[in-house]
Amino acid sequence: MNKTLEICEKFYKTKDLSFEDFKYLMDLEDYADLNTYARSLAVKNFGRKIYIRGLIEISTYCKNNCFYCGLRASNKNIERTRLSKEEILSRVAHANSLGIKTIVLQGGEDDFYSLDFLEDLIGEIEDKYDLALTLSLGERSFEDLEALKKLGANRYLLRHETSSRDHYYKLHPRSMDFDNRIKSLFKLKDLGYQTGCGMMVGSPFQTREDLYRDLQFILKLQPQMVGLGPFIPHHDTPFKDYPAGNLDDVLKILSIVRIAKENVLLPATTALGSIDDSGREKGILAGCNVLMPNIGDEKLRQNYKLYDNKIGTQVENSDDFLDLEEKLKKIGYEISLDRGDYKEEGKYV
Ligand code: SAH
Ligand code: SF4
Repeated sequence: MNKTLEICEKFYKTKDLSFEDFKYLMDLEDYADLNTYARSLAVKNFGRKIYIRGLIEISTYCKNNCFYCGLRASNKNIERTRLSKEEILSRVAHANSLGIKTIVLQGGEDDFYSLDFLEDLIGEIEDKYDLALTLSLGERSFEDLEALKKLGANRYLLRHETSSRDHYYKLHPRSMDFDNRIKSLFKLKDLGYQTGCGMMVGSPFQTREDLYRDLQFILKLQPQMVGLGPFIPHHDTPFKDYPAGNLDDVLKILSIVRIAKENVLLPATTALGSIDDSGREKGILAGCNVLMPNIGDEKLRQNYKLYDNKIGTQVENSDDFLDLEEKLKKIGYEISLDRGDYKEEGKYV
């Protein structure tokens, strides 16, 4: 067994990866063995099936000012729009008609979506459809999170962005609160949400130590989902001149996360597809098992630019599904329209 496989095997068995071994993996020039090892764990847990989550972006308004994101409040150059309840419901109906059983409502932190609004919306979705509902609406009060869970929201995506406090405040203004972000994630888990954390790879000022800390955080939180992709600069943000995260680094860390938690739901993100034409396929071959095509509103999508050169992943009709199916088939995988709830080890297939 070569050294890469030895490290993978030891990490898989002990869930303990020293910083030296982490660095060894991250510095590999040829990391095919790392990807293959992780991929075989994904196949063991999920077969060659890729879960589809339908992403509905609901608002380009955001009260926050993350230095990296095009939706930040201080960016005066984007059109702010949001979907009404009826518009969201119409996109949910669309998802349902395509056979999609998981939807993700994502947006900037927009106070327009009060608890009342969301209660109403989720109530209607729950009445009409049998869907797994994921929210990705940023930080909300613990009372809100509890109420939304009771109503039927089952999953929540809230990337921690970085698990190093110093680094957090290089990416966010002081008005944002690192401790609250981390506490929110533990709260989401306590409340029984299938919880997703995650980070950008190659965000400005990120060190190898920071990424290693992110891995330790994932091991500690034991999230059901991890969303990670490259940082990509946006031309109207303070980070416009920083380079995008590196494809190789993303593919390595995806594999490391798969080994850390073999049954975690791990999307090959749009950002990964945006830095490389076949980035999402490469992500799957590195151990990912989820895709999140956009099924939202076309006009809002035009303005929902977190970063530059974001690819469109719109699934509007069954032809688009066939295209996606075709792409997956080429690498030996197929779409699964199952709800794909998180399950304990070994119980997916
Ligand atoms: N407002 C919510 C959800 C929308 S943003 C929130 O912040 O949680 C969703 C994710 O997009 C963020 O968590 C962040 O990791 C990612 N993102 C934002 N700007 C980005 C950029 N410039 N490059 C790559 N990912 C970015
Ligand atoms: Fe708002 Fe989320 Fe963008 Fe931060 S990352 S500015 S919270 S949309």
